[in-house]
Amino acid sequence: MSLSDDPILVACPACGGLNRVPTDRLGAGPTCGKCKASLFAGKPLEADTAAFDRHVLKATLPVLVDFWAEWCGPCKAMAPAFAQAARELEPQVRLLKVETDREPELARRYGIQSIPTMILFAGGREIARQSGAMPARAIVDFARRGL
Ligand code: ZN
Repeated sequence: MSLSDDPILVACPACGGLNRVPTDRLGAGPTCGKCKASLFAGKPLEADTAAFDRHVLKATLPVLVDFWAEWCGPCKAMAPAFAQAARELEPQVRLLKVETDREPELARRYGIQSIPTMILFAGGREIARQSGAMPARAIVDFARRGL
């Protein structure tokens, strides 16, 4: 059995419960075993530190995180592109948004120097990082290149 056939651990956006999803069921609209919510909503999730830790460190599905702030013009300009990228990348990749002013410890943990910064995680490890606003196509390519 190859590694890619193993079930993937996906954190529920609603209750945070961890769900084992066989890779070939990822695209079949899986729902949470605890609360029945959809595991994928086709859009980025706003994440505080607790949610970040569940999705990035405890789950095994790759995660693309956008570190942003309310006062950052380029961040706000990129938001629709990031949302578009979520529609293309789910369910192979989970997309999270972390507001650095609300979660300064998390921004420090990953040494965020400028925003927007995107970090791609897989298995809790940083795979790739890119600073600066990007169009949706470039965001999708950035994530796919890293996986
Ligand atoms: Zn749930």
